[in-house]
Amino acid sequence: MKNMQKIFKGKIFIITLVILLICPSFTVRAEERVFHKDDDLVIVIDPGHGGTDTGTQGGRIQERFMNLITAQALAARLNMYEGVTVYMTRSDNDTTVSLTDRAKFAESVDADFIFSIHYNACVLHDRFGIETYTSRVAPYNAYGYQFGDLLMRKYSELYGIFPRGVKTRKGLRTDGDYYTIISASIYREIPAVIIEHCFADGEVDAEHTMSDDQFRSYGETDADAIAEFFGLKSSLLGIDYTGYSDLLCYADPSSFNDATYEDRSAPETVSIKVTSVDQFNNTVNIHVEGSDSDGMMLYYALSTDGGWTWENPVPWPGADALTGTYDQGFDLSLSFESGDRPNIVIKGYNRYDGYTKSNQITFIDRFNSNEIPLYREG
Ligand SMILES: [Zn+2]
Repeated sequence: MKNMQKIFKGKIFIITLVILLICPSFTVRAEERVFHKDDDLVIVIDPGHGGTDTGTQGGRIQERFMNLITAQALAARLNMYEGVTVYMTRSDNDTTVSLTDRAKFAESVDADFIFSIHYNACVLHDRFGIETYTSRVAPYNAYGYQFGDLLMRKYSELYGIFPRGVKTRKGLRTDGDYYTIISASIYREIPAVIIEHCFADGEVDAEHTMSDDQFRSYGETDADAIAEFFGLKSSLLGIDYTGYSDLLCYADPSSFNDATYEDRSAPETVSIKVTSVDQFNNTVNIHVEGSDSDGMMLYYALSTDGGWTWENPVPWPGADALTGTYDQGFDLSLSFESGDRPNIVIKGYNRYDGYTKSNQITFIDRFNSNEIPLYREG
């Protein structure tokens, strides 16, 4: 049900955009952005971690270093826009600043928004893509959703970094937020977003975390996204986003946005079946199906040895974390060597990395003759 609403809202947005593009003089406008700035816009950039808190150490350099490089480039470029004052919660790598102190600092400078800069990592080092976290609490949820959607579309277009969606995470003993930088900020009535730019520790995103120049480039993209979100302009850069903020995606400030729903349950079904076997070329064609009714299928991983080893996960066909849509099923063609006796299984993941394993296709015979090897679909 939630998924349906997401798709429906996405469609309204696309239809509105099309109307705007076809009829520039048409007076109907897209839903206005929900966050209206006052005259003096104050932005706090928060380079995550620092000092004794190194952040993830799974990358080329410690996360505290990556975050500062990105944050400094972000602040430098955002300062080139007019009508905005930019602060940072830390400006070196040796200072340890608590999360609450970061929010208190934002309050002391009367911040309109806080953007927390991070790089991601996971236990199995196999994830990929950009994600943002925002508050579960209205109206902050709507602000974060509109910004995250805008930001991830840029990353997908400019860098080919996979959008994992705008997410929320519930606190352990509260209906509020899990991440302190978010809960401590909204307690002070400051909207907050965590940007996890990509995974620093995995093979899939390795090409996106090779150099400091890339970290700087992401900071500049963040700055442009913030400028677009607030409708800023820069004569220095020759960029004018005036009026752009009225074109942000739909978000209702009075309620929680379904597109940021925290899906804690695994996908309901993931199944595979053989559609054909080519015994001459040692090829197996399979059909994969998956469904997650309160979320979406986002990516999948393949094993051809019954789950002892897994290939790097890849995007689920048709998966769009920003609209909540995905293909229900797709076909895969798998090639083997003569002598192989594959045992095929798929793990289908949702937007919150919950997964369900499929049934197994177990070959009883090896690929070694011109006869179709026997197999079993468990
Ligand atoms: Zn971090």
